[in-house]
Amino acid sequence: MDIVRAIPEMRAWSRRRKAVGETVALVPTMGYFHQGHLALMQAARRHARRVVVSLFVNPAQFGPAEDLERYPSDHDRDRRMAAAAGVDCLFVPAVDAMYPEGHQTRIDVRELSLGLCGAARPGHFQGVATVVAKLFNIVQPDTALFGQKDFQQLQVIRRMAVDLDFPVEIVGHPTVREPDGLAMSSRNTYLDARERGTAQCLFEALELARRLCASGERSCGRIALAVERFLLSRPGVRIGYIFLGDPGRLIPVREVTGPTLLALAVWIGGTRLIDNVLLEPGPAGH
Ligand code: AMP
Repeated sequence: MDIVRAIPEMRAWSRRRKAVGETVALVPTMGYFHQGHLALMQAARRHARRVVVSLFVNPAQFGPAEDLERYPSDHDRDRRMAAAAGVDCLFVPAVDAMYPEGHQTRIDVRELSLGLCGAARPGHFQGVATVVAKLFNIVQPDTALFGQKDFQQLQVIRRMAVDLDFPVEIVGHPTVREPDGLAMSSRNTYLDARERGTAQCLFEALELARRLCASGERSCGRIALAVERFLLSRPGVRIGYIFLGDPGRLIPVREVTGPTLLALAVWIGGTRLIDNVLLEPGPAGH
């Protein structure tokens, strides 16, 4: 596996691959790999001849009170895991190379960035869209893979790629979970043992909603209320948001009449976790 740090070198790497007719898939990450990241890397192999993984903790997507300084990191472990997953190139740019002095351009995918996580994290999706656009320009991938765990991020990137004519196929990958259902996340390492037990409640809440829908409940208000009550019955849980809405446009809906996104942000102690599910309408007449 090649390890590339400089932007011109990364560009040259991709250019060489493309010159011999090879396709390139990109998996953007912030590192501290877990099985979710590895699943994206393995899926990338099925989409292209060569797989590039970027490892960059992007300061532009963290707010001033967020966890940039303590975001978990272990580059040696990441390097070993990526190599074992068959990654061809690990791109690890420096912050001052990605954001040299004087940088000021930001990409704003307006409406999709406003609600859900965007409401509590102003500027977050501008930071995400900007860094992903830069990575697309540097790596020039044919395909890029993103996890559905970060559903809003996936939709923001899809929109950006269409709006700005990036010749990149965007692929969403299903959420990889721990045995108890908790979505894998680098931030799960912030949880202590008690909080880790509590964190299962996100998945349980999604399952509760899925069961309600399957048994014919269509009212988003009633589903949201059931989910809220369930989450608040757990100790140390605070709700960031409970969103039920159109998965493409990310606007709320009142009834589950087609595939409907249920997305949650939940604080367990000092850690903010997110998860989501696509609800399908059950039999009518509830
Ligand atoms: P991150 O390093 O957290 O920025 O994540 C890098 C990529 O991995 C993003 O596209 C995430 O959506 C994706 N990802 C993170 N956790 C999971 C998971 N549990 N299952 C699937 N994809 C994930």
